[in-house]
Amino acid sequence: MTPGRVALVTGGSRGIGRAVSLRLAACGARVAVNYSKRADAADEVVATIGQAGGEAVAIGADVADPDAVQALFAEAAERLGRVEILVNNAGITRDELLLRMTPDIWDEVITVNLRSVYLCTRAALRGMLRGKFGRVVSIGSVAGLAGNPGQANYAASKAAIVGFTRSVAKEVGSRGITVNVVAPGFIDTEMTADIPDEARERAVGSVAIGRFGTADEVASAVAYLCGDEASYVNGHVLVVDGGLAL
Ligand code: NAP
Repeated sequence: MTPGRVALVTGGSRGIGRAVSLRLAACGARVAVNYSKRADAADEVVATIGQAGGEAVAIGADVADPDAVQALFAEAAERLGRVEILVNNAGITRDELLLRMTPDIWDEVITVNLRSVYLCTRAALRGMLRGKFGRVVSIGSVAGLAGNPGQANYAASKAAIVGFTRSVAKEVGSRGITVNVVAPGFIDTEMTADIPDEARERAVGSVAIGRFGTADEVASAVAYLCGDEASYVNGHVLVVDGGLAL
């Protein structure tokens, strides 16, 4: 990666986003670490990057809120410079079987997981077009490709990210900007920490590699797509699931 690139990682404070923030910083990027509620977690990531000799800032913003997203990109530009690499990572689950799924939890998941990707990508593209360079990587999910009972809202949001990505990839590919998806399977983070033991065992049994993945393993795929080496990879869905979806 060209050193000094400015990266913004939504939900960069915990789990996969934290690993991505640390990895991009280790690759030489200057990183805006976004969070929504837990400023302490974002501050820890910024401090860890600083201790390793990198540069990062924490910026709080609900990425589902258009005004907050505008303020987020304005602050990132002011403190680090124009965003050249965007990782749309922030996401939530609100699992329920469809017959019990209320409009509230449907909307919440679609808004946080999908509207955020639209808002942040649109906000980032203006500067990327000016700079004739950009990398957008959104974190999808195997659930968006294969489906998962109890996750119709989540799977719909993640499937939509693929259609969104392929459309925008076609819109801006000729301008030095690539737009891709990384679709993880089961990854050990707080999001999956509450899976009951029995369900976890079943899940592990369906992964060819025979274990949950780590956030670092997802970060490796994201860093590749954000780097100069991936200049001809566009509109791609890179599955990182240990063979779950085979
Ligand atoms: P996580 O540990 O729960 O972390 C979620 C992160 O998103 C936190 O930094 C959180 O910040 C942030 N966030 C949540 N809502 C936000 C909002 N409205 N605005 C800004 N930031 C927000 O989750 P994870 O497991 O790392 O998941 C990260 C991404 O990977 C998600 O898109 C998820 O769907 C996807 N994914 C995860 C797995 C898995 O097995 N873990 C598998 C496939 C895909 P605060 O703490 O400040 O709220």
